[in-house]
Amino acid sequence: MAVSPTTLSANAVRTPASVESINPVNNEIVKRFAATQREDLPAMFERARGAQAGWAARPIFERAAHLRRLRDAIYERREEICDVVSKETGKPRVEALLMEVLVAIDMADFLGRQAPRWLARESVPHHSMAMKAKRAWLEYAPRGVIAIISPWNFPFSIPMTEAMAALVAGNGVILKPSEMTPWSGALVGDMARQAGYPEGLLQVAQGAGDIGAAIIEAGPAKVFFTGSVPTGRRIAEACAKKLIPSVLELGGKDAMIVLRDADLETASSAAVWGAFSNCGQACVGVKRVYVEEPAAERFIALCVEKTKKLRLGPPSDPDAEIGPMIRATQLEKIEAQLKEAAAQGAEIAAGGKRRPDLGPSFFEPAIVTHVNHSMRVMREESFGPVMAIQAAGSAEEAVRLANDSAMGLAASVWTRDEVRGAAIASGVRAGSVMVNDLLSYYGICEAPHGGSGESGWGRTHSRLGLQEMTDVKYVDVDRLPRVKKPWWFGYSAGMADAARGLIDLLFAPSGLRRLRALGGRRSAAGMMFRGGRI
Ligand code: NAD
Repeated sequence: MAVSPTTLSANAVRTPASVESINPVNNEIVKRFAATQREDLPAMFERARGAQAGWAARPIFERAAHLRRLRDAIYERREEICDVVSKETGKPRVEALLMEVLVAIDMADFLGRQAPRWLARESVPHHSMAMKAKRAWLEYAPRGVIAIISPWNFPFSIPMTEAMAALVAGNGVILKPSEMTPWSGALVGDMARQAGYPEGLLQVAQGAGDIGAAIIEAGPAKVFFTGSVPTGRRIAEACAKKLIPSVLELGGKDAMIVLRDADLETASSAAVWGAFSNCGQACVGVKRVYVEEPAAERFIALCVEKTKKLRLGPPSDPDAEIGPMIRATQLEKIEAQLKEAAAQGAEIAAGGKRRPDLGPSFFEPAIVTHVNHSMRVMREESFGPVMAIQAAGSAEEAVRLANDSAMGLAASVWTRDEVRGAAIASGVRAGSVMVNDLLSYYGICEAPHGGSGESGWGRTHSRLGLQEMTDVKYVDVDRLPRVKKPWWFGYSAGMADAARGLIDLLFAPSGLRRLRALGGRRSAAGMMFRGGRI
């Protein structure tokens, strides 16, 4: 962890004084940030709550206009964003441009246009005759100050897109970036200031998990957490204790299903990019491939051939396609999974070796075959450049294997038969399934992002992600203010008959019975027009 401790006294807790941004290419410290102290948080929340009250009162068109300013700020500083992100994650510049800058800038533009419509009052027409005198609508009210706790793998686009949705919905934000990428997190705060958001509305708290936990203790209106499954569990427990709602975007073990009729040339290129872009450190990266047996041999051969051509190197090399892993400790976890799988009979068909000649955490992307679900490499998240390929006897078996996972973030199906592909996609348990494409949905603003099972709950991005930032309120205005409601007190046997008559009139399967309900002792009309006794 990149925090440097300050010794307070012999017995006192060692408080991190700073958070360091470290370049994974060579482990050099590139920048230091003052770490937020637990005791700073009450004042931060107070400032954010103060700013939020005024911000929420501003018209939505004004809040949306700030998103356009943010969009322009990101555009203006796009190369700087890439410099920072690449320096503290080691990712290639092309990926920084596409997955950090483009994703964020597009979301600012999209939400700037759509949010006024999506946050506007939404009329609620009533189906029931008894409610026709009412006018009703939904309001999407801001929640207050939202905590965004984010990971290091997309250190700019994840917190930035979530902050955009929170702010345009009228909330304040306390953002805690990963302690491994404090500089990218600081940039988010800096750009909010540049875009003219009110002072204190979005604040960045720098630090490790203890500060994340303290933020939840401080009582945000909602927690948006993106990170690993074990941390997600701790956060769910902390939120449950205080009944704080949460969105949890957790780990993935995403499956790719390749049917025998797929274009294997395209599917293999997709698999290699899907598994190894961002050095395999993507929640929605391809981790498990199930390929129908008749296509397996050629598909594996193509993947191996293409993986061997990948160019490893630092982001300063414009031709480098695979950067370093974020830390050597991550690399050790991957190596342990591969070693264990090999001992159980798996074959490493490509890569899987360290490259100390390039830097301390460079690792050749690995393809592992002859795997099965008893191996950890098929069950636990491999947050690095590892793609496991298993042959499946049929499409049905491939779906069964894909669904045999505790996680369910995203998946893809590859086939020339679009109709069959769509039908298979429906049977895969995951938050998103693409047919003949992968990963790109994360950059599609209309597509909700989130998972099922251990991949978490709730959604970000899209209209659903924006709604997660709001409290939905139903408002109902009765147009007959002087009429007492017939269901108020004044209960009697006659009223019970009238109530029966009303139910008959509306739902009796027999037409004759419905007709009878119009008059007589069990008169529905009696129910409708009776005045209240009290
Ligand atoms: P992590 O869980 O170690 O940390 C994530 C964040 O949580 C960091 O900011 C960390 O400081 C903070 N944190 C740690 N303990 C905490 C606590 N007790 N209370 C509050 N905050 C705490 O995850 P990571 O290593 O930064 O990121 C990698 C993981 O994130 C992978 O599992 C990956 O799949 C997942 N991820 C998921 C998505 C998604 O959208 N589903 C996107 C990106 C990454």
